[in-house]
Amino acid sequence: MKEACGVVGAAFQGSKAALPIYYSLYSFQHRGQESAGIVIAHNGETQSIKGMGIVPWVFKKNDLLSIDGSVGVGHVRYSTSGGSDLENAQPLTINFKGGTISIAHNGNLANSEELRLELGRLGHIFISDSDTEVIAHLLVKELMHNDIVESIRRLMRRIVGSYSFVMLINETLIAVRDPLGFKPLCLGKVESEEWNGYIVASESVAIDVHDGEFMRDVRPGEVLVIDGDQIESHQICKPGNTAHCVFEYVYFARPDSVIDGRLVYDVRLKIGECLAAEHPVDADMISPVPDSGITSAIGYSKKSGIEYIEALMKNRYVGRTFIMPSDAVRKKAVQLKLNVIKPNVKGRRVVLLDDSIVRGNTSRRIVDLVQRAGASEVHVRIGSPPIISPCYLGIDMPTRTELIASQKSVPEIKAAIHADTLGYLSVEGLVEAVGIPASDLCLGCLTGTYPVGIPGERCVLRQLRLEEFEPDD
Ligand code: SF4
Repeated sequence: MKEACGVVGAAFQGSKAALPIYYSLYSFQHRGQESAGIVIAHNGETQSIKGMGIVPWVFKKNDLLSIDGSVGVGHVRYSTSGGSDLENAQPLTINFKGGTISIAHNGNLANSEELRLELGRLGHIFISDSDTEVIAHLLVKELMHNDIVESIRRLMRRIVGSYSFVMLINETLIAVRDPLGFKPLCLGKVESEEWNGYIVASESVAIDVHDGEFMRDVRPGEVLVIDGDQIESHQICKPGNTAHCVFEYVYFARPDSVIDGRLVYDVRLKIGECLAAEHPVDADMISPVPDSGITSAIGYSKKSGIEYIEALMKNRYVGRTFIMPSDAVRKKAVQLKLNVIKPNVKGRRVVLLDDSIVRGNTSRRIVDLVQRAGASEVHVRIGSPPIISPCYLGIDMPTRTELIASQKSVPEIKAAIHADTLGYLSVEGLVEAVGIPASDLCLGCLTGTYPVGIPGERCVLRQLRLEEFEPDD
């Protein structure tokens, strides 16, 4: 489990799909910067380009233009250093008796080891350590005896955890979202002079980039089968509750994306307002820690009346520290990434608003920077509750021992990051800001209680196996 990724699938009529998939991948590059890939199916063959690094490093325009085929899938990936290699780059393609499957997966299976061992005993050989390959092997097994929808239904009965994936089975595009809807997935239509057809993607910005029309979110437990210009929807199961990852709203998704009916920008604005109500402070200015703190800082400013003034300038050509692969790289990245606008903070009482504190090292360095630049006080406000537990469901986070809020109380964290005061948004405040009931959100890393069974962790099971729900096809 070390992935936080973005997926896209495109099915066009009469126009090549590789270039528009590339543009969509570019639009959610923030979801993964370690590898990228595109697979296109055409006339019984697949063509694939995959490589390590960000989208513009991996793809060359002429290579993309030379690929024929109007249906394809794409992926950007993030992993920890251990799994960061080309074997794990996606989409993953497997040949089987009935043709070819190519899968691009966002999420993390909670029972992948158990399934991998079972398949290994049956003679399956794996070429990577990703759980996507487990999904592919299970699906191939089912496709030997069943049609596509029945095979996916049977697959979904076996796999537990978070998964939004797009997949090619020969030249049919398929989109699948897990029954609890952990990770986002949405459907859009593109009608332009260049391209005509459907896009399924992790974030709606991947549709916007083509001036497309956002149609809707793929529903939790839904499978879309897109063949030419025909879309079939199969509601494989109807969960009583969902478990949307709350961190998509706090940090991960772009603010201009719409996820499960909520514009991320609106949620972040409201986070800032709730934070101002919960943790007011006498101060001269409020500044975001760019970029993901920007919208919430505007909300805090609106609610508190404290002037919004930027204290920090970001070097936009350095990656996000939260998802940089090693600790050494992460440290250097902070130094390269942020600089203080000294005249803005000198002699002032500054509120700094950030989306979260993970290990605390970055926060301490930022507070130190602002203090050294002459701020008279530095008050830190955090747009999420303390992260006390790891994520097992698709976002890379450190272990409990590295998570500062798992080890220290809020006053201890305040001291560790050198802040004058520290205020975290409450779980209730976050739920109010998102506007989705807590019973339909995953709050596992914030509460330590997960919505699926995780060995050794506290769980309130919303769903363990698919058969707990009535199929309604
Ligand atoms: S544990 Fe946290 S990061 Fe992981 S899916 Fe749940 S809310 Fe998202």
